Amino acid sequence: MTTRPFHRDWLERRMIAEGVDGPWVAHRELVEDREYSTVFHVVLRYGDGFWRLEYQLSNASDQDVDHWFNQVEIEATQVWPAAAAHIVWQDTPPLAGGGSTSCTWTDEEGMTKVCQDPAPWIVVYQTGAMARKTDLCDVHVTTAMLAPHCGVREVRKR
Ligand SMILES: [Zn+2]
Repeated sequence: MTTRPFHRDWLERRMIAEGVDGPWVAHRELVEDREYSTVFHVVLRYGDGFWRLEYQLSNASDQDVDHWFNQVEIEATQVWPAAAAHIVWQDTPPLAGGGSTSCTWTDEEGMTKVCQDPAPWIVVYQTGAMARKTDLCDVHVTTAMLAPHCGVREVRKR
């Protein structure tokens, strides 16, 4: 691991912690949400390399935190870009012929359980203004319809 210090004056002049992305900022990332501050990593282009530093922002307008953790010389770690798998989050694809969605049911205590059985039933619950949809198996769709407290609004087959 190679490190080098950055002087806080250098960082403050370029307003790195204030979110200014000059030509030297290659990457920023939220790494930790603490009680009073949020910690970020920033990767700077400097010299012939990339350097990762940590800074924090206050979580409240009336709560001051030092961006650079009260350090004068902030230690940076040398890093290099690497290609990585990129995960995207997409809607559940429509299911053909009954499908393989597992039954997710709610027990008497209101706990959500997954029973793993195929779930051809779609049940919509209504609580006040909130509607919630769940997939249920043949057994648990009966349980849901027999429980008067849980506010079933709609039951239909997939
Ligand atoms: Zn079930």
